[in-house]
Amino acid sequence: MEISLRNQLAVVTGASSGIGSGIAKSLANAGATVIINHSSERSVEEAQAVLKEITDAGGRGMTYQCDVSKEDQVIKMFQDTVSQFGTVDILINNAGIQKDAKFTEMTLDQWNAVIGVNLTGQFLCAREAIKEFLRRGIDPSRSIACGKIIHISSVHEIIPWAGHANYASSKGAIRMLMQTLAQEYGADKIRVNSICPGAIQTPINKDAWSTPEALNSLLNLIPYNRIGLPQDIGNLAAFLASDLADYITGTSIFVDGGMTTFESFSTGG
Ligand code: NAD
Repeated sequence: MEISLRNQLAVVTGASSGIGSGIAKSLANAGATVIINHSSERSVEEAQAVLKEITDAGGRGMTYQCDVSKEDQVIKMFQDTVSQFGTVDILINNAGIQKDAKFTEMTLDQWNAVIGVNLTGQFLCAREAIKEFLRRGIDPSRSIACGKIIHISSVHEIIPWAGHANYASSKGAIRMLMQTLAQEYGADKIRVNSICPGAIQTPINKDAWSTPEALNSLLNLIPYNRIGLPQDIGNLAAFLASDLADYITGTSIFVDGGMTTFESFSTGG
């Protein structure tokens, strides 16, 4: 059983770092050409380093700077990708940020920034991707499906998170966005799913793993007793994007070492 994404083009948002870079490498390893999206001038070098790793391993791709919360930039990213590579087969809606604050101290700017990238960004990219899937139609030389979207959500799609109301709200909303799109475009053979990571070792949550004390307390929440790696998410993303997963749509898959079994109840509650 081989996971193959040969002849397919994948856009991975926020691919200059962390989970997005892990997914980009996994998809490229399965044969996809990968657009490594990053948000700003500051992330150019990181994005180029991800591309170099991919091309050194024999893969193909391109870096593309675009702020996914900005409609004009997202439209242009999809237009440029289609004019250069012909079409888009896979969208990985991964870009995400945190702006944490106690709820009564959370500013509107902090709220809007997180909703803007984590939710509106996923809406804008999904809309442009689906328009392109429908324009192209099904091409069996690429995939049985007309297109695939994978939203990167979080365990906080279902676990409330004090001090992170903007982030948890954005992830809860992604579940409804994902399921609605799966329902609306199922008959068009567009598959839409979410991956919900638990604690994955990336810059976004450095405070939770960069000291032995922090890591120990994090491991108390994870029955499998290790922190996750970007590769753990990349492995599932490659499978979900492939035709091996052709009957999977409208669902959230948790990749969390058992975090959502609520470890704190393991001693009897
Ligand atoms: P990260 O900070 O390493 O990476 C985030 C990426 O998003 C970076 O490449 C950044 O440049 C990009 N980005 C930020 N704003 C952007 C914008 N406006 N436009 C385009 N790109 C933008 O964090 P990560 O941990 O890799 O997070 C990736 C996704 O995984 C996020 O959606 C996050 O919520 C989710 N997630 C992470 C964890 C975890 O434990 N690390 C757990 C659950 C969910």
